[in-house]
Amino acid sequence: MDPFHLAVGLNRCPCCGQGALFKGWLSLHETCEVCGARYFRDPGNWTAPTAFGYGIGAASAVAAMVVMWFVNGLAAGSEVVVIAVAVLMTLATMRHVKAWWVAVLTRMGHVYPDPVVPPSAEPTEDPLEPASNEPESSAVNVEVN
Ligand SMILES: [Zn+2]
Repeated sequence: MDPFHLAVGLNRCPCCGQGALFKGWLSLHETCEVCGARYFRDPGNWTAPTAFGYGIGAASAVAAMVVMWFVNGLAAGSEVVVIAVAVLMTLATMRHVKAWWVAVLTRMGHVYPDPVVPPSAEPTEDPLEPASNEPESSAVNVEVN
C-alpha cells in the first residue's frame, strides 16, 4: 500500500509506511523510528494543519447551527451544543489532519532522513584552535658560526 495512504489512514510514516507518526494522542515523533525521516524542519510547517483545524471547527459550528435552527429554532442553550460540536470535531480530526499534512510535506520533498555524517568525517578538534601536535613556540634556534 502507498505510504501516503498509510500515513493518513493508519498514522504511519509517509516515507517508509512502518514507523508510528504519533508518540501521544496529538504529539508527533520528531523523526521516524524506522527510517529516521524528520517530519518537521521549519516552524512554519504547522500553519497549514492549524488552518485546517480551524476550518473544520468553523464548518462544524455552522453545520451544527443549521441543524439546531431546524430542530429547535436556535433556542437558548443551542450555543453550548454548537461549541461542543465544533471542539469535538476539531479534536476528532486533528490526528488525521496532522498525518495528512506530514504526507503532503513528504510528497513536496520536505520530509526525509537527516544526512548521516560518518564518524571519520566529524571534526575532532575545534577548527579555530591550533592543532595540539604543532609546536607552541614559533621561535627557531639558529646556530651562528
Ligand atoms: Zn519512516
